[in-house]
Amino acid sequence: MAPFARLPTEEYHLSYKDLKSLDGTPDHGAAKAKRLIGHALKSRVEAIDQDTCQVGDEDAFFVGDLGEVYRQHLRWKKNLGRVKPHYAVKCNPDPQVLRLLAELGNGFDCASKTEIEQVLKMGIDPERIIYAQPCKTKSYVRYAAQAGVKQMTFDNADELYKTKQLFPGAQLFLRILTDDSASLCRLSQKFGASLDTTADLLELARSLDLDVVGVAFHVGSGASDPKAFVKAVQDARFVFDQAAQLGFDMHTLDVGGGFTADDSFEPMAAVLSASLDDYFPPHVRVIAEPGRFYVATAFTIACHVIARRSVTDATLGTTSYMLYLNDGVYGNFSSIIFDHQHPVPRILKCGDDVLYDARRSGYDSPSQVEYSIWGPTCDGIDVISSSCAFPDVVNTGDWLYFEDMGAYTKCSATRFNGFSDCHDVVYVCSEPGASALLEL
Ligand SMILES: *Cc1c(COP(=O)(O)O)cnc(C)c1O
Repeated sequence: MAPFARLPTEEYHLSYKDLKSLDGTPDHGAAKAKRLIGHALKSRVEAIDQDTCQVGDEDAFFVGDLGEVYRQHLRWKKNLGRVKPHYAVKCNPDPQVLRLLAELGNGFDCASKTEIEQVLKMGIDPERIIYAQPCKTKSYVRYAAQAGVKQMTFDNADELYKTKQLFPGAQLFLRILTDDSASLCRLSQKFGASLDTTADLLELARSLDLDVVGVAFHVGSGASDPKAFVKAVQDARFVFDQAAQLGFDMHTLDVGGGFTADDSFEPMAAVLSASLDDYFPPHVRVIAEPGRFYVATAFTIACHVIARRSVTDATLGTTSYMLYLNDGVYGNFSSIIFDHQHPVPRILKCGDDVLYDARRSGYDSPSQVEYSIWGPTCDGIDVISSSCAFPDVVNTGDWLYFEDMGAYTKCSATRFNGFSDCHDVVYVCSEPGASALLEL
């Protein structure tokens, strides 16, 4: 993708019509999305003949709906209007997603030199980036200094000395520990300063003449308890006050990531918004680092059934099947291991029938045939689903699909066993607003 012109720093303003269309019809565009995704999946798999195709033509592939990313952005604006999102690049560094989020005026949360470089190459102003990694590689800090990426987090004294040596002009965020016991992926065992250490850290920063501009926290990925946000906001207030006593003028609160794309987002956002207003006056800038919220629901993956083994239970007289797909936990299903996800298999193509979005693909259908679903590597850990049921008999050469595969999937795929870690994305766009921004 060619780099594009430097983008303005100002917020892209959503039209009143965009927000209006969201009111009352939260599924706005969703029907069109199904149509477009279905069409993309169908035309691709129908064009592949496994008996004659080139090596890799039948590889798994994604369909990414940029319109869904756009709808999630509208949802964010509607529910967390005060909070400026800085997309967590690690979650899915897809170039088209990054482009759209850039056009929407979002910032970016980067954790390495490569991520910073990818965002800067798009023409993004370094002020829109936060280097949100409290334990940084020295050469990366030098790179950030040279590139002008000033905002960065820290949570320990050594990092302050490192910053003093390499980037004394940095704008630092003190990352504090949170109670993440209710979240899916706990992060507080690894990062965050406990509240009994923040005073010492701030004093050290003061004596080193470093600029601490705010507090950051992360309640853990897949956070399910809104109370965790309230507690973290209260703790951040405590540290803001501590900092003020030491002469710092903190101006930004970073509420991190962990926002889920499911129905729990709205109640969670309401609780967070209320506590932000309770504890932080309007002049305090509030940013966040959502990752999964933006992309989880935007990507669907299609996988080819490369082999099948039937298993007969002589006592029960039943037959079940083991299906082997051309993608697994060492590939795009790495989310099962790293992110505790449970992708739901559905039938895309069974013989000549294309069943995308049909009841027979696995939705609520009475279970008739039992399956377990495996990846292509030689490792026993490579299992996608240990038990599921379809009403149809799936054969070698058929296709399955899995929805909600946008977060922590292809970014953590490996090349183990010689299987490819690069997979195609077919893009669709179910929202005219997003198409216009991307000039599609
Ligand atoms: C991973 C991460 C995020 C994104 O988390 P999500 O659960 O995808 O929202 C944000 N900030 C930091 C510091 C992270 O490590």
